[in-house]
Amino acid sequence: MSGEPSADCLFCRIVRRELPSKVVYEDERLFVFEDIHPKAPVHVLVVPKRHFSSLEEVPEGEAALLGEILLRARMLAREKGVGASGYRIVLNTARDAGQSVFHIHFHVLGGRLLHWPPG
Ligand code: AMP
Ligand code: ZN
Repeated sequence: MSGEPSADCLFCRIVRRELPSKVVYEDERLFVFEDIHPKAPVHVLVVPKRHFSSLEEVPEGEAALLGEILLRARMLAREKGVGASGYRIVLNTARDAGQSVFHIHFHVLGGRLLHWPPG
């Protein structure tokens, strides 16, 4: 169910520390860790601890949570040294975007020139 913990979700298990990850940041609502297959020198994933399978599943009432994620992503980009050089926040949603893990996650990518448009 939306917002409820999921026993078999990969990122829920990472958040619960049942599976290892390189933790970058954690608070009551958010968890941030290094992407296991980085696509850029900086590549972290920002996830809410609550389970939402994708942006499509996030209720309208969770606008504050989404805003908090963006502000945290910005802070992490700054801390990783790419605040001024630039970075990209990516939220892949469902099939055509290539979403592969169905626990909403925001990619923060930086440290190299990022091409546009994406493939
Ligand atoms: P997406 O394709 O947007 O669903 O992104 C999923 C991301 O999760 C990919 O960039 C993967 O490299 C990353 N990923 C998958 N498994 C793990 C893991 N165990 N720890 C960290 N990142 C992971
Ligand atoms: Zn989950």
